[in-house]
Amino acid sequence: MISSDLPMGGPADLHQIDTPPPDDGEIVRLAEDLVWYRFRMPFRLNHINLFALETDAGWMLVDCGINSDDTAAQWDAILPQLTAQRPIAGILVTHHHGDHIGHAGPLAARTGAPILMGQAEYDMARAALAMSDAEYGGMTANTYASYGLPTELVERNRGIGNYYRQLVAPLPEISIIDASWRFRTIAGEWTARFDAGHSPGHVGLVDSDRRLYLAIDFLLGRISPNISVSLRAPDGDVLADYYDYLNGLDWLTPEWTILCGHDWHYFDGARRARQLIAHHDRRLDQLRGAAMPLTTDDAISTLFPMELTDHEIYFASCEARAHLNHLVTRGEMVREMSGGIARFTPA
Ligand SMILES: [Zn+2]
Repeated sequence: MISSDLPMGGPADLHQIDTPPPDDGEIVRLAEDLVWYRFRMPFRLNHINLFALETDAGWMLVDCGINSDDTAAQWDAILPQLTAQRPIAGILVTHHHGDHIGHAGPLAARTGAPILMGQAEYDMARAALAMSDAEYGGMTANTYASYGLPTELVERNRGIGNYYRQLVAPLPEISIIDASWRFRTIAGEWTARFDAGHSPGHVGLVDSDRRLYLAIDFLLGRISPNISVSLRAPDGDVLADYYDYLNGLDWLTPEWTILCGHDWHYFDGARRARQLIAHHDRRLDQLRGAAMPLTTDDAISTLFPMELTDHEIYFASCEARAHLNHLVTRGEMVREMSGGIARFTPA
């Protein structure tokens, strides 16, 4: 459940910040109270950007990496550099995707710091962690079957078990934060905002005085954030939520710095929002122009006409389905179940 790196965004033509990405084990300062480090990941999307905010009480870590020995080794390099200056005061998990939450449990055990999360993301993580291998495999297989994916692929995924637990360690008690949450650092005050689309209750952080927006996975500069239905709720219209988010970013004047969970940081987030709106508009047009009726598998072939690994099939299928569902919401298509497969036709 990490962000995908399927070819989606196209050249973004954005003005990147001057600071080059940190090397392995290196910490780079982005603002008086904000540092950035980058962890390797074993996927096509091969890294994640992690941050820490400096408060009088200590560092507020922002996100954790997947749960793996390699992530633990990378924290071995980063944590002593931070704690040489201040203790770890908290671990903010922006959303439930494995690359952001995966190592939160071990990191909390190691630092003694509390984990802070929004309720919607915590509920998603807890539900996925609670599923047995058979339950998770069964859910994946049943949803894939209703997408019309090939039987061999459906059955292979039934046997994979709980893929989420392969990336995410068990969670201890956590502290729930809501939209009233704000905190003071050594240089400013950050306010939480909660957004839906890429995930249901993603936490972003805003410092309006300094025009800094930690958008994490919601406004990536290089790739289009993955907009996927949940395997548990494949009829959901998450693309409507994401359009709402993108259409609500007019306040982002060009001088705001957009800080991202992957790739690089940049200016002019409102321009990027318009690019992403155009990107999803084009995706919907591609589906409108496809031969009907459309299964979700047909929509994958239309939107992602390439060889896909099982890891990529997950993102591609759930993103294709999100676009089909949005056309149903708009009243342009109808969804009918027959033979256990959902088929979409013009309304
Ligand atoms: Zn994500």
